[in-house]
Amino acid sequence: MSTEFKNTPLIDFSDEENRRKMEDAISKVESELGKEWSLIINGKRIKCRDQFFSRNPSDYEQIIGIYQKADQQRAVMALDAAIKTFETWRFAPAEERAEYCFKIVDLMRENRFKLAAWMILEVGKSWVEADADVAEGIDLIKFYAHEVLRYAAEQPLTKVAYEESELRYIPLGAGIVITPWNFPIAILGGMTAGAFAAGNTVVLKPSSDAPGVARKFMEILEKANLPPGVVNLVTGAGSDIGDTLVIYPQTRFISFTGSKEVGLRINEHASRISMGQKWIKRVIAEMGGKNAIIVDTEADLDSAVEGVVASAFGYSGQKCSACSRAVVVSDVYDDFIERLIERTKKIKIGPAKYYENWMGPVINLKALASIMDYVEIGKREGRLLYGGRRINGNGNFIEPTIIDNLDRRATICQEEIFGPVLSIIKAQDFKDAIEIANDSEYGLTGSVYSENQEKLDLAKDLFHVGNLYFNRKCTGALVGVHPFGGFNMSGTDSKAGGRDYLLLFTQAKSISKKI
Ligand code: NAP
Repeated sequence: MSTEFKNTPLIDFSDEENRRKMEDAISKVESELGKEWSLIINGKRIKCRDQFFSRNPSDYEQIIGIYQKADQQRAVMALDAAIKTFETWRFAPAEERAEYCFKIVDLMRENRFKLAAWMILEVGKSWVEADADVAEGIDLIKFYAHEVLRYAAEQPLTKVAYEESELRYIPLGAGIVITPWNFPIAILGGMTAGAFAAGNTVVLKPSSDAPGVARKFMEILEKANLPPGVVNLVTGAGSDIGDTLVIYPQTRFISFTGSKEVGLRINEHASRISMGQKWIKRVIAEMGGKNAIIVDTEADLDSAVEGVVASAFGYSGQKCSACSRAVVVSDVYDDFIERLIERTKKIKIGPAKYYENWMGPVINLKALASIMDYVEIGKREGRLLYGGRRINGNGNFIEPTIIDNLDRRATICQEEIFGPVLSIIKAQDFKDAIEIANDSEYGLTGSVYSENQEKLDLAKDLFHVGNLYFNRKCTGALVGVHPFGGFNMSGTDSKAGGRDYLLLFTQAKSISKKI
């Protein structure tokens, strides 16, 4: 067991040997595609009446796999398994739970290239993004293993002469973990492990756009000999089974990451008390963003351009932390725009399975249509500076798109687009730039490029986001270094990868004995 948490270094793909390993992993995974996979409930493989396909967004003809479409009955079956298993798992010592996590981490390291290859094919991540996703997943699970041990240790209490006291963090019960497709290892692994490492049992409902990666993660849990029923995998449409899972009276908590619309629906349903329910359900909901990068007059413009491009177009803008608004102070506006366009022209787009493609597809046809609708709205609301077209072919490719001449309240400056579309807003001065950045219902990430410390200090006080960065991109939070979660409609600020996270999956029991 490791004793100190350290972040996992990323794989260097400039090394030929690493490139060869990734190519081999992609070929290996391609040879495994197209199979049918079951639900996993209490360790048993369960089939359903209906199934659905997962497809490669870089090549819609390529079927990743066939997955079970669970109905409400199967959802309840999974919940019952989690509820029953909780009666034993809740007593598993912290050391044992942490040890499972360390074993899982070892297995993820062994399968690092293969896990990344699954993501490259199923959700269209570039090699670098896919590897970063696996590394983050490893880090989150390792970090939570350390945290389990920290919370199990003696907790600091004020001592009195007449009593002996202790404080224990005990688990909540059986809960639901509902995950998005865009970080199918990091977010899914972190949310699931956080919940079970704290002593809870889980029904895991992954996104219907990434069931294959979820299935691979389950295989790793099984190889680590995590007891059956601790995590139960239920694939299928959230719209079919989501409400059932949330409303069920014995559901103790719901840990959700996804869109604002679904998160708010879950929050509302969870707040209603069902017959036989004897607790207030805990909802941890991490939702969308409309993140801004401020470019000040005293910024290093080349560095700002790099940061904006990486944050806006990395993984085709499909990160909750992505920059979708660049707020540029008027004195440097024209210069910044010119350099930004030149840099954006160099982006190479294409199927994610080829290393040279920096930007891959968007996740599915529905997302593609929605993003193209926003591009049309943007063209009416402002001036199309670059991109704006779909790229023909078998995949869901869209050009990186830049639109300016926008009012700060324009639709494309307010609504989350979740694609490679960047709005540029001109600010009169630095204070105006902060007001524009804060003019959003979201508050997830933000960044400021300026060499002036006084302005950065002002941003520390006024820029209202959960993750604020200076002179760097607004994506790429590191576990333990940048605990991650947002304000306002971005969610409940759970701070994944931080020291408060596991508290969300526990309740504190104070015990005192008179002496
Ligand atoms: P989504 O459409 O909200 O889906 C998220 C999950 O919710 C999926 O598993 C989905 O299942 C499920 N779901 C759908 N309807 C449901 C219902 N009625 N009840 C319960 N669950 C239901 O989001 P997404 O497209 O996967 O992910 C993109 C969104 O996630 C963006 O808004 C992004 O900003 C946000 N996000 C936030 C963070 C963060 O940390 N704040 C991180 C990553 C992503 P189906 O797939 O079967 O519909």
